[in-house]
Amino acid sequence: MSRVFHRHSNKLPPIGTKGGGVYLYDADGKAYFDGSGGAAVSCLGHGDPDIINAIKQQLDSMAFAHTGFLGSQPAEDLADLLVDHAPDGLEHVYFVSGGSEAVEAALKLARQYFLEIGQPERSKIIARRQSYHGNTLGALAVGGNAWRREPFAPLLMNVSHIAPCYEYRDRRADETSSDYGQRVANELEQEILRLGTDQVMAFVAEPVVGATMGAVPAVEGYFKRIREICDTYGVLLILDEVMCGMGRTGTLFAAEQDGVSPDICTIAKGLGAGYQPIGATLCSVEIFDAIKTGSGFFQHGHTYVGHPTACAAGLAVVQKLTQGGIVDQVSAKGKQLRDLLHQEFGQHPNVGDIRGRGLFVGLEFVADRDSKAVIDPSHKFNARLKTAAFEAGLICYPMGGTIDGKNGDHVLLAPPFISEDHHLEEVVSKLSIAV
Ligand code: PMP
Repeated sequence: MSRVFHRHSNKLPPIGTKGGGVYLYDADGKAYFDGSGGAAVSCLGHGDPDIINAIKQQLDSMAFAHTGFLGSQPAEDLADLLVDHAPDGLEHVYFVSGGSEAVEAALKLARQYFLEIGQPERSKIIARRQSYHGNTLGALAVGGNAWRREPFAPLLMNVSHIAPCYEYRDRRADETSSDYGQRVANELEQEILRLGTDQVMAFVAEPVVGATMGAVPAVEGYFKRIREICDTYGVLLILDEVMCGMGRTGTLFAAEQDGVSPDICTIAKGLGAGYQPIGATLCSVEIFDAIKTGSGFFQHGHTYVGHPTACAAGLAVVQKLTQGGIVDQVSAKGKQLRDLLHQEFGQHPNVGDIRGRGLFVGLEFVADRDSKAVIDPSHKFNARLKTAAFEAGLICYPMGGTIDGKNGDHVLLAPPFISEDHHLEEVVSKLSIAV
């Protein structure tokens, strides 16, 4: 009997024994194509010798030092490298161990900022329905799925949710994409006015919604309007790039393609690329300075912040992503994957939408394309798809019926950036066995 328990502990997966390139292997030697990079984590595949060597070297020199006593060179170098490539204005980096922790740090940074500048009444947060920001209590409160939050209510934060930018389902037939983007962004303004213009501290969103919607980017102009509204009302913009960041969409930071700079940005997953658990929260000079000149320290912390070995892994990953031209190829590879999916599923009566950005791709399944009705009201579709794909040797990330319990079922594909043409073909042909 296994004494390990996790989310799906009533049905334990096989034991994995090996990873190499785009494949993972179980104890029987069966190969699985890592078509979702776990959950958009393994951007550089498995067994990368450069990253492994960087980790080994750091383990040999100094595996761990508590940042209350000693910093580490990998943390310094990784922060410099991230800031070099981050959206304008993000100049300070707080390292954590994963995505939820990065979101928690973001929320506390925002709150402390307003306390430092003498606006304690700003404590409300606006986020979006159908988003995912993590499973710790603060991150859960911000997340947009009522069914995840409700069992743990009342949660601690003061959060309200507005609509996401979801063109496939929500754009009206008489609206252009751009008009739709402005209309849905303006919901933020209405919500700020409803809550009180001096009450709202931050708006939180994923630039490309991953886990719960299946790679849904916003329409052009949406985030620019969001930025404008935040500026007008003095609300901080927090972009959660835990899933869509680190090159996944074709640029190191996804927000770059939306033409906006947030005040705070969270990253994780692809930062450690699965080799070490690491996340980071980047913030603006203004936020950092307010805290530095105010109480002098960020009132937050975990034992493993700035973990040297995790930072060594992150540094090797980001060096590889930025210096090897790997991220530059992600857009073209993503387009190729979407083209292959269109060829295979473009006429499929149950495939409503094929979307995404870079190697962050989603398919949405519907009962029929005209009504876009949910394919399986009992929400078993995604579980069946996951099992069938797994049997065919493909790991993909199916989510469904999660959209406040009603809309479509979808599968997320996020293969490693090292995938070659034939690998992308393999993903699509294995998926077609399962669909
Ligand atoms: N934010 C986003 C956008 C995510 O996709 C996730 C994880 N799926 C998280 C936060 C939480 O990250 P973690 O699971 O590492 O805590």
